[in-house]
Amino acid sequence: MSHLLSELPLARFEVDRAAYLRSRPDWLTEIWTQDSTRVLVVNDGKIPVTDDLSLILTKPGHFNLLSAQVAEDISLLGVTSEHTYLVYFTTNDQLSEASWVSLRDVGAQLSALDVGLATSATALGAWHENHKYCAKCGASTIVSAAGWSRTCSMEKTEHYPRTEPAMIVAVQDQAGRILLGRRKQWADSWFSTLAGFVEAGESAESCVIREVFEESGITIDPNTLQYLGSQPWPFPASLMLGYRATAISTDLKSDDDEMAEVKWFSRSEFIAACESKGLQLPNQTTIAWHLIQAWFGEDMPTTWCR
Ligand SMILES: [Zn+2]
Repeated sequence: MSHLLSELPLARFEVDRAAYLRSRPDWLTEIWTQDSTRVLVVNDGKIPVTDDLSLILTKPGHFNLLSAQVAEDISLLGVTSEHTYLVYFTTNDQLSEASWVSLRDVGAQLSALDVGLATSATALGAWHENHKYCAKCGASTIVSAAGWSRTCSMEKTEHYPRTEPAMIVAVQDQAGRILLGRRKQWADSWFSTLAGFVEAGESAESCVIREVFEESGITIDPNTLQYLGSQPWPFPASLMLGYRATAISTDLKSDDDEMAEVKWFSRSEFIAACESKGLQLPNQTTIAWHLIQAWFGEDMPTTWCR
């Protein structure tokens, strides 16, 4: 099998990011007054959804006025043939009919249009929240480029949203068993594929080999390393790079600070553990679910996730 994982939940994106609009000085005034404009309110990192998990989008008229303070908290998400989409970051609940949820809990259930908007909005919101000051000189930064940049108020340097690459890998042994691990802060039944951040000056491939060895003591055959796809994971800023690989050793030893336990599961052990709830997988929004499902070879019941 050599194909990439298709349609990872948070990788879906249907709007044109319309970067050409970001540099127009009057972009917001123009867009705010269009009847076709829709605003996604992000409230303290949570997104508003209806009971049947559609994203709630409002017209600019819902908000009383566009003050300078409000404008500072608005970013441009993109355009379709029908609408222009903005996100408004706030910590006030602005929509009484909404359920406020985390994208990580509902991403797989949202439509492609909704999930693309919500993923970009969540990522941008987390970045703005954590980059109010210049990393170089410490002065405050000001939102620019329709929310896609912040400018240092002293040096006038531009700072752009950062993405932190992380790898995640489904390791199997020569007998086809899958390697799953449990982090120290997780419940006894929670297991997932091994994952870790790419370090400074490191390639993604080297990171896979290093992290697997650190977390499990397993050596993987570099020639079997296969890239399967990526999806953003904006909690707050990761890009998950998904791989599969085959181990050349099977003896587990974890002296890693992060892992409580690592285990091999044969297909029958895996099914039995999932059915008995002794093994509970990350939800369908995660790339881990899809990597494990690719190993399993068929659709897994949703009752197997946490
Ligand atoms: Zn600065």
